[in-house]
Amino acid sequence: MFVSDCLGLNDLGHLTIGGRDTVELAQTYGTPLYVMDENEIRRACRSYFDSVKKYYGGRGLVTYASKAFCCKAACKIVAEEGLGLDVVSIGELYTAMSVDFPPERIFFHGNNKTVQELLAAIEYGVGQIVVDNLTELELLNQLAISRKKAVSILFRIKPGIDAHTHDFVRTGQIDSKFGLALETGEAMEAVKEAAQMKGVTLKGLHCHIGSQIFDIEPFEHAAEVMLNFIADIKKETGLALELLDLGGGFGIKYLPQHDPVEYDRYMQRVALTVRRTCEEKGIDMPFIVIEPGRSIVGPAGITLYTVGSVKEIPNVRTYVSIDGGMGDNPRYILYQSQYEAVVANKAVQPKNKTVTIAGKCCESGDLIGEHMQVQDVQVGDIIAVLATGAYNYSMSSNYNRIPKPPVVMLRDGEARVVVKRETLEDIVRNDLL
Ligand SMILES: *Cc1c(COP(=O)(O)O)cnc(C)c1O
Repeated sequence: MFVSDCLGLNDLGHLTIGGRDTVELAQTYGTPLYVMDENEIRRACRSYFDSVKKYYGGRGLVTYASKAFCCKAACKIVAEEGLGLDVVSIGELYTAMSVDFPPERIFFHGNNKTVQELLAAIEYGVGQIVVDNLTELELLNQLAISRKKAVSILFRIKPGIDAHTHDFVRTGQIDSKFGLALETGEAMEAVKEAAQMKGVTLKGLHCHIGSQIFDIEPFEHAAEVMLNFIADIKKETGLALELLDLGGGFGIKYLPQHDPVEYDRYMQRVALTVRRTCEEKGIDMPFIVIEPGRSIVGPAGITLYTVGSVKEIPNVRTYVSIDGGMGDNPRYILYQSQYEAVVANKAVQPKNKTVTIAGKCCESGDLIGEHMQVQDVQVGDIIAVLATGAYNYSMSSNYNRIPKPPVVMLRDGEARVVVKRETLEDIVRNDLL
């Protein structure tokens, strides 16, 4: 009945997550509050893990894109589930290493890694550095030689696929800040340069075509384009690349009408495409990596808020103001993202109100959403915004000097705080006079 399987109703008519009463959680930990169901996260990890095993045998790896939700607990859970990890900054890398994440299962992404970040990756023994451009390639090669370390790399490739349109279109040359273009010959040039280098070993290629994608076709198409390029590389240079990272981007259900593809079906179809293309091209099937972020943690999280005011503007709209907003969920102000909201203490009642849920920051655009269907909402009610597990905590800020909410993790219904609520002392911690 709700967008995520971990949500439900109890005898009091309250919304539950992981079997726990959300109203009680709000009372215990205060609001605003992020709540995550660890069982749901582990379920998602296992479902990806099992699919990859089923369709690629032992020749595949699921890496969790940590930017979706990164903290020590998240890295530890993912490590225990046998997944790899994507990081895009020294902060994410440091978080992972602080819980002894196996460095060989880490992939370091980013379009402008600093010298400090590259050196940290080399020193930690990060398994694969995903090189974005020729400048980075040369820099990394020099750093690896100077540190006398062998570094395995992938190249980030722009496959020229627009996955944001419903019917994907092949664009001649995509406009993106990430990666090396195929069409211009830039990618092939990079491969040839890397082949001459002593500090780096080119193991494979990577692409990531977008996010919150509901279709399978763009993924199949991307796999084809990438395998064709691997075949071209073999023909032109004799180099047989052994790894293909097909990125993440699998859509999740934010609204009841959303209908994401089943990940197992995605995996089955893409695996078929991979096998067929390899046969056609006469190349060995590479080791396949996929990188889900949102779909691992998104459905597992909700955010709880307390309603502070309800402002009815006749014939215009009703503003429901909550004690959080763009500081803890900037996705509406960034890209008008849509969410389902529920009055947690009235979750059993029908949704008979259409409201705009507004945050408390000094920005008119600080909304959780417009035209949201909710129950008869009043001051003091607890509002739950659903499926906020991805790109909420990880994108949070201290705008207006509002302390960040804590993250409570539920395991088999047992609650523990995995990120503490920020204090006012935290807010001024780095201030100097
Ligand atoms: C963001 C990102 C992902 C994860 O995307 P989701 O939409 O969260 O699955 C995977 N790989 C790369 C390189 C990314 O930048």
